[in-house]
Amino acid sequence: MNDFERELHSRLAMLREQDLHRELRRIDSPQTPQVILDGRKLLNFSSNDYLGLANEPALKEAAVKAIEKYGAGAGASRLVSGSLVPHHQLEEQLAAFKGVEAALTFATGYVAALGTIGALLDKRDIVILDKLSHACLIDAARLSGATLRAFAHNDLNQLEDKLKWAQDQAAAGANGGVPRPRTLIVSESIFSMDGDQAPLREIVKLKDRYGAWLMVDEAHATGLYGTNRRGVLDELGLSGQVEIQMGTLGKAVGASGGYICGSRALIELLVNRARSFIFSTAPVPAAVAAAAEGVRFIQSAAGEERCRVLWERVAPVELAIAVSPGKKLGAIIPLIVGEENKTLRTADALREQGIFIPAIRYPSVARRSARLRLTLTASHTAAEVEQLVAALQNLELVSNSSRIQVHALVG
Ligand code: PMP
Repeated sequence: MNDFERELHSRLAMLREQDLHRELRRIDSPQTPQVILDGRKLLNFSSNDYLGLANEPALKEAAVKAIEKYGAGAGASRLVSGSLVPHHQLEEQLAAFKGVEAALTFATGYVAALGTIGALLDKRDIVILDKLSHACLIDAARLSGATLRAFAHNDLNQLEDKLKWAQDQAAAGANGGVPRPRTLIVSESIFSMDGDQAPLREIVKLKDRYGAWLMVDEAHATGLYGTNRRGVLDELGLSGQVEIQMGTLGKAVGASGGYICGSRALIELLVNRARSFIFSTAPVPAAVAAAAEGVRFIQSAAGEERCRVLWERVAPVELAIAVSPGKKLGAIIPLIVGEENKTLRTADALREQGIFIPAIRYPSVARRSARLRLTLTASHTAAEVEQLVAALQNLELVSNSSRIQVHALVG
């Protein structure tokens, strides 16, 4: 074994020792409520396909038609080989859906974040983000070179302290008298690993008071919240007050890709400056057409019905779990176990009962806050959710978090 291989093996051994080793589980079926995982049929409560659109005939058909008309590949970056019609159609549709001037799509939500924060800020600037922000937002902030400050999850006092600090930096002329730093606040609307909501009304007030910009990631909210299912910002009437709205097309929308939307000038700047857009081959026409169909579906009566069914599926789980006062469950339900090893064992025990819920560990969440991340979708049947609740009731989990008291499961 050479030095390189020895180093890799030693790192892998360390991950195993800490119960942090991960491996790919092979699924021999589509991402539907029932999957064949490692050869076993399991009920799938792991997917972000909240509305069940990933296997919706209309999306598949749109993808096939796009392949037939525009081909399997996109050729090059849109700035190099020309920008295909399906990309423009999707962006026009997204902008109309979100009620903003313009939108830009990226290959994934992850690279949308990287490109956007990197285009807007540099090392003279400051990013203040919620501590539980998704890795792509943290990585984007780091990559931009800006100074990074995190506030405790949803803690408005801490956010205000950091904003005051940022204001002092500017007043002190920390950057040689130039009118910097610019300060960007970053938050998700629905948090990916906790399923809870950010206090966006208050965050908007703070960003206005301190002259900061705000970027909100609606990855887990687009398609699900608000009367038009545009997301939490729209539900709260805040869309027009947020500089940068972000999301993914790979969750409720049922396809893949990421988007940024906002003003026409924002999108024009990103086309010129977002490196993950400029230097990357455009998403394939099939994915883009499927996403466009997903956005169309979400806005239809059928989309409204799917959303209603989703919340109907959440209700029995909400009843079975003692949720902290004042909190409501969304489609993401974290069953916090704490210890990594115990979380893995609990996930194994659930699989024995025919239920697949992924164990989420560091670095996806903080050390010793490992959890089962359970997600519900509109394509689960009521009977499947009953089966899930029964399996959860057989578990003896002790929560170390006030968020969801798993040990208080009824039954
Ligand atoms: N933001 C959040 C909150 C997410 O949960 C995710 C995906 N897990 C992303 C962004 C990245 O989106 P994508 O999967 O399209 O890269």
